[in-house]
Amino acid sequence: MPVPLLDVNAQNLPLESELQAAFTQVLHHGRFIMGPEMETFEKEVAEMVGVKHALSVSSGTDALLLALMALDIKAGDEVLCPAFTFFATAGAVSRLGAVPVFTDVCPICFNLDVNDARKKITAKTKAIIPVHLFGQCADMIPILALAKEHGLKVIEDAAQSIGARYRGTSSGTMGDFGTYSFFPSKNLGGFGDGGMLVTNDDGLAEYARVLRVHGGKPKYYHHYVGGNFRMDTLQCALLSVKLKRYAQYTADRQRNAAHYISELTKLPGVVQADPAHCKCVTSQDEWLVAQDAKIVLPVSYAHNEHIWNQFTIRVLGGRRDSLRDHLVSKKIGCDIYYPVTLDQQKCFADLPAASLSGCEVAHRVAGEVLSIPIYGELTEAQRLEVVAAIHEWLA
Ligand SMILES: *Cc1c(COP(=O)(O)O)cnc(C)c1O
Repeated sequence: MPVPLLDVNAQNLPLESELQAAFTQVLHHGRFIMGPEMETFEKEVAEMVGVKHALSVSSGTDALLLALMALDIKAGDEVLCPAFTFFATAGAVSRLGAVPVFTDVCPICFNLDVNDARKKITAKTKAIIPVHLFGQCADMIPILALAKEHGLKVIEDAAQSIGARYRGTSSGTMGDFGTYSFFPSKNLGGFGDGGMLVTNDDGLAEYARVLRVHGGKPKYYHHYVGGNFRMDTLQCALLSVKLKRYAQYTADRQRNAAHYISELTKLPGVVQADPAHCKCVTSQDEWLVAQDAKIVLPVSYAHNEHIWNQFTIRVLGGRRDSLRDHLVSKKIGCDIYYPVTLDQQKCFADLPAASLSGCEVAHRVAGEVLSIPIYGELTEAQRLEVVAAIHEWLA
């Protein structure tokens, strides 16, 4: 039986009657822009993640842009961000005329390498954007310490990690701003585009709130140039229905990840990444050779609550595309997040050399990663089919 990489209907259709009731309510009151369901949804999210202010916005991308605008990031400012992430992280920086400076990543958790970030700070560096990739938080204590030491603003790109925790604290709530995305493939998947900006800072929240509506306050009186960064009332109403189930959605993904790990580590040549090698690629490589490893499974650090937006394995020895082709031939959904690092993108080719240097680990993992189905509604039979297909490829 085919196993898709993601099946949004499996999660959404069981809620059909509740979603229809939410739609009917919005249809009847007619307040399609900033209607009452918007405030309700914002409060619900703020409560779930434990943050003072939550502003729904048009997308995760716009949440990043709005955060940067509210922090007054301008042309010529440098902003540190990982080379291995979705494009929007750096795209938002560039759109303001600021300069993304790419940092290398950890080969174990795929997140920003804080030691590399430290080396790339200059007098122009104004902010850092740690991305909590694939549903696991970056190492925030050293990142926040580095930011404090150099007076940098911190925006957590938590598009893939709403509800994940780092030492008990929710992703997105540790920096000056955190951003979430409700793109359908994210863990809290919406019915179109949507996102959220969160902060514990009253002043920043107020400024972002004004920038969200073209910078006008009161309406038609503009002290600032903002944009239209609103999320539809309807989207908020529909997402409230799903938010009530969010803890279960996360538990289902965690169960799937645990099942993969227990089944896949039984196969010869499959090992789980060891956090002990987090900071040292050389010792990790020696260890992998000693294990005769062909596939490395992802790991959740003990201090993290991983929400598994992606289950991303590393295929060693230049054989990633071979495994991908095998899974595709078996009708098993899989994809490469991300095949090209940001420092290697054409649109950034003209950035100063210092923006693009020293991202060797990122380059390497981009050639090794493959994400396999992890969505919550996967059945046990489907998971075992994925495992069997990988076993077949290894043999
Ligand atoms: C999805 C994503 C975004 C952008 O979110 P959209 O809602 O699609 O605009 C930004 N950063 C990361 C890391 C993402 O995964």
